[in-house]
Amino acid sequence: MTYYNEQIECMDKEILSQVQLEGLQATLNRAYKNVRHYRKLFREIDFMPEDLTSMDMLPRLPLLTRRDLSANYPYDMFAVPLREVVRLHTASFNFEEPVVTGFTGNDMSNWAELTARNLAGIGVTRDDVVQIALTFGIMSGPFGIQLGAEKIGASVIPISAGKLREQVKIMRDFKTSVLVSTPTVALGLIRSMDELGVDPNGLTLKCGIFGAEPWGEQTRQKIESSFYITATDTYGLTEIFGPGVAWECPAKKGLHIAEDHFIAEIIDPETCEVLPHGQEGELVITTIGKEAFPLIRFRTGDLTRIDNTPCECGRTHCRISRIFKRCDDVVVVRGTSITPEQIGRILTGISGFEPRFQMVVDRQEDRDQLMVVIEAADQYFFDEMKKQRRFVENLHRQISEFVGWEVNVRLVEPGTFDPNRRVVDNRTFK
Ligand SMILES: [Zn+2]
Repeated sequence: MTYYNEQIECMDKEILSQVQLEGLQATLNRAYKNVRHYRKLFREIDFMPEDLTSMDMLPRLPLLTRRDLSANYPYDMFAVPLREVVRLHTASFNFEEPVVTGFTGNDMSNWAELTARNLAGIGVTRDDVVQIALTFGIMSGPFGIQLGAEKIGASVIPISAGKLREQVKIMRDFKTSVLVSTPTVALGLIRSMDELGVDPNGLTLKCGIFGAEPWGEQTRQKIESSFYITATDTYGLTEIFGPGVAWECPAKKGLHIAEDHFIAEIIDPETCEVLPHGQEGELVITTIGKEAFPLIRFRTGDLTRIDNTPCECGRTHCRISRIFKRCDDVVVVRGTSITPEQIGRILTGISGFEPRFQMVVDRQEDRDQLMVVIEAADQYFFDEMKKQRRFVENLHRQISEFVGWEVNVRLVEPGTFDPNRRVVDNRTFK
């Protein structure tokens, strides 16, 4: 078993709890002092950071939502002046304003350590060639992997997503040994490999890290058997660094949360009550090491459960179960988070009002598809065929542009779907 930082990853549970308590106290102090939003919330409940003397008191603090983060656009949630920030990323989600996150130099080096643990944990060394087939852009994902791989001393190919045939050639010629991508891109690479007649035996791949969208055991099997590799899951959110928050060790029995940086809670998404370990609910994360953008009790929207039983890999940090569902209307398709609010805004922009619609997600031949079905109830849609066609074409173009790939759009008769169900996800993650 390989560790990047054995002392921390296999730390005694009691010492780990002490590390968490001290980290939490420091974070609360810093947040109270530097972030108006937290100061206001704490004052409302008559709480001072020094009041927190044990971890049991954490649930007394208010929860933080993406709406709060968006409302403080762009920099009001930062706990350091902008001159100390060396990196900015955004997570868009479903609000008018995106969530802007910042990193100090220390945050960057902590992030590198966290993803280095993930990579080393599945056997990546300085001898490896890591092909990062995630889109390099304003989202943080690929940058975190790059930092970690370089910290280990591996050679990085920051190829981004897309151009799959070229990627297969590079994978073969550059002797890539580690692939990092979304499962969708991995499956696309397998198809391209078939089309090009490239024999996977001729590749030097040994393992891969896949994430940014839900994927099940069937997809894992397909990726593993087609590439002859071990495929592991990783979890992270741009709001909380990105990758490196939690990841699967080779035991593949849940994703270890880096507990020296994050405190995980599970709440009932309806009542917001904290649930005992083992029960499924919404994951809430508190960061205890972040300088620029500390998050206190941040609601991730992801449904999972915490497993505190010992893992065969020897790591003591708790695990969360793989994440397939959310407790809100956000769907993650091909690595993109899409909400009905976003689609509704595009619809309103084109037609001047928001017709009834439904987002339908399906998986066809290993590929996730999104269809937007719109109820053609209004006269507007029927009086002129040409107008109707233009509307659908326009919508198709704008939504596809927005998500970055082809989305189907269909007009249907009223009553075809239940208008109260704005998202139908037909995918199964077996
Ligand atoms: Zn483990």
